[in-house]
Amino acid sequence: MDTEFAVLMVAQGIYSVTNSSGHTFYIVDGDERAAVIDTGCTPGRRIMPLIRQYTQKPLLLILTHAHSDHIYHMDEFDEVYMNHREFELPDSFLRLMMEDKQLNLRQTKDIRTGAVIDLGNRTLEALEVPGHTPGSIVLWEKEGDHLFTGDAVGSGNDVWMQWPSALPLDRYYPSLLKLLRWIVERGGRMRLLGGHARQCFDSPLMPYNPLSLGWLCDLIDLVDQVLCGKIIGQPSDADIILEPEPPLRASYGRAVLQYMPSRVRS
Ligand SMILES: [Zn+2]
Ligand SMILES: [Zn+2]
Repeated sequence: MDTEFAVLMVAQGIYSVTNSSGHTFYIVDGDERAAVIDTGCTPGRRIMPLIRQYTQKPLLLILTHAHSDHIYHMDEFDEVYMNHREFELPDSFLRLMMEDKQLNLRQTKDIRTGAVIDLGNRTLEALEVPGHTPGSIVLWEKEGDHLFTGDAVGSGNDVWMQWPSALPLDRYYPSLLKLLRWIVERGGRMRLLGGHARQCFDSPLMPYNPLSLGWLCDLIDLVDQVLCGKIIGQPSDADIILEPEPPLRASYGRAVLQYMPSRVRS
């Protein structure tokens, strides 16, 4: 038995794979092709043999954003999609994040809002949600009503906006409003699946805090109140890269946010 990866069938033909570091990626199996959404970061291992236990279809990889815990195994795939706004990430940051591996993000195909990837009996529609990174995207599997969110709105615990790859909060706020509208226009009942599935059990606010429309509304209220000064975060010891000051941590309802005081307004 492989103790490195925990595989869960989310729905018929949809699998979540979480590695021992808590990085989650997804396999969406269509009639003609299968999509892998993100890769996790499992140094010393390949993820392809595991994926091939669940599908034999031609594969494409879609990256929700360019953080190492989502792209590390992209070199195991021939066809890779990523939003090219990720090219804005500072090279120094990308190098620090990857350490032992250099990946060529320029070999990816661009994916933008409105792009629909047809897998056969299943489609994936993309929406750009700039914030956690400039080119973060979410993907809607219409037929089963699943929304793969990467790190765009966290996974039930802190939303990380403190890394230098994040946009200021005043640019994140309109993204969140756009996401809420987009979800509601598509029926408002999607099951949201984040890039760190176990974190829905890690929330400091409640023992089980899965992503939901309610979570998203709380996050919108939280960012709004930080922007207008009604909520001011407390210094936190969350992970930072290349930053001189500690991040702040703020919460409202079910939502928790890490951010830098210097990147509230652009
Ligand atoms: Zn991330
Ligand atoms: Zn992540």
